[in-house]
Amino acid sequence: MTDQPSLGGPPPQSSVDPQVPHPARIYDYLLGGKDHYTADRAAAEETIRRAPQVRESARANRAWMRRAVRYLAGRGVRQFLDIGTGIPTSPNLHEVAQEASPDCRVVYADNDPVVLAHARALLSSTPQGRTAYVQADVRRPDEILTAPELWSTLDRDRPVALMLSAILHFVRDEEDPGGIVAALRDALPPGSYLALSHTTNDIQPERAANAAAVYGERRAAALMVPRPLDRVTAFFDGFDVVEPGVVQLPRWHPDGPVPPRLLDEVWLYGGVGRLH
Ligand code: SAH
Repeated sequence: MTDQPSLGGPPPQSSVDPQVPHPARIYDYLLGGKDHYTADRAAAEETIRRAPQVRESARANRAWMRRAVRYLAGRGVRQFLDIGTGIPTSPNLHEVAQEASPDCRVVYADNDPVVLAHARALLSSTPQGRTAYVQADVRRPDEILTAPELWSTLDRDRPVALMLSAILHFVRDEEDPGGIVAALRDALPPGSYLALSHTTNDIQPERAANAAAVYGERRAAALMVPRPLDRVTAFFDGFDVVEPGVVQLPRWHPDGPVPPRLLDEVWLYGGVGRLH
């Protein structure tokens, strides 16, 4: 097996250390993608060994992201800032949004150079809409907020949906995730939204903690920090959370009946809030 991911775009501009497992590539492996190195696969396999549910959680997260985007587009949102984009997995956010309304505009941001290498797949906008990609770290929100691509792609006077889907559990308490969300929130135009999902140990505490510990044991690029429901809900400070609240992902506006099995196996919360 080769140690090269199959890169669809130009070579990454920042260096990639294949020995260091990265969240984007571990997630890609869990979703059944093909863009990961040996170290990523080994870390992902170890989390699956400790908790086979992590695959279901990854799929449920991706499905939630798509439902949230359709929900937001259905409420008239036409602009999205997606931080922690991940390696493209079709349909990507802009494809879901532009299917709902072809004029949707999306700015993507991620700190993994492998995601940058795939950015071409994220830039396949409809002619009526627009997409852009920013290589940036959510822990430095100012860099995202001052990136030239942001407000040249999005209109500052119209609502924006800030998407933080399965990213904040890679930000440690010492790095002030609440302060990061607040900084991003304060830059949003009136009528904007936050859509956020986050892993938790609440559902099967020992098993989930054991699986999350793999990131630290394998010295991954980021630790996995699951948080309890009240901490995840607190990220919505300054937003009115829409029905049904911050809930386990399968319960959030499901497309059909929720198989009870999913409520045992999906260890993430998510919700959508509208800026006060
Ligand atoms: N949002 C996508 C992908 C989630 S995987 C989805 O929900 O399907 C988490 C993503 O967050 C990865 O692509 C990883 O590279 C990115 N990420 C992790 N820490 C980050 C940070 N500090 N800054 C920017 N991106 C980060």
